[in-house]
Amino acid sequence: MKLALMAATLDRAARIDHLTSLANRKTFFEEAEAIVGSEAFREGAVLFIDADHFKSVNDTFGHAIGDAVLQEMGSVIRSSIRERDLAARIGGEEFAVFLVEAGRDKTLEVAERIRQNMRGVRRAVGIEDREITVSIGICVHGPGQTLNNILLRADQNLYVAKNRGRDCIVATTGFGPLFA
Ligand code: GH3
Ligand code: MG
Ligand code: MG
Repeated sequence: MKLALMAATLDRAARIDHLTSLANRKTFFEEAEAIVGSEAFREGAVLFIDADHFKSVNDTFGHAIGDAVLQEMGSVIRSSIRERDLAARIGGEEFAVFLVEAGRDKTLEVAERIRQNMRGVRRAVGIEDREITVSIGICVHGPGQTLNNILLRADQNLYVAKNRGRDCIVATTGFGPLFA
């Protein structure tokens, strides 16, 4: 293999999550920082998407089916957003999306689409008798917010979504009141 091709292959391997082919955790945080820091940045939102009761999916069907579910979740997320948005697997059964040029309404629309499209995962994987759902915590970028503020708030909102019973969306603009 040519050296340049080898370097490109290695670089890709370091930036991509091998299971889903989405960006990995490191890439997500680097690219999100670049988006928020760019001159052109006007509006955007972070979504943290966590699979509900995923441990029991593994316990019931085995780790290989668990992996297939995660792969399918990755496909659902990718096909629910636009090309220029950023999607990543940032942890075992946790995904993150950075929507660019999206305000509150657009963000909620996309999040709801992701949540609904997850309903098709169980059929795709062949585990029809088991519901696969996600909880989504959202922070829409507010004026003057740093990326860290946005990430912190999206994470807190995900925690609230879990406590509300899962399979739901909790959202704020910055540290403002919940609007979903
Ligand atoms: P909650 O609704 O509160 O999020 O419950 P949960 O079971 O999804 O959360 P918990 O953090 O208790 O468990 C996460 C599970 O995800 C445990 C772990 O075995 C599984 N997991 C993490 N990474 C992978 C992976 O790459 N493949 C598979 N198959 N399972 C994974
Ligand atoms: Mg989970
Ligand atoms: Mg989790």
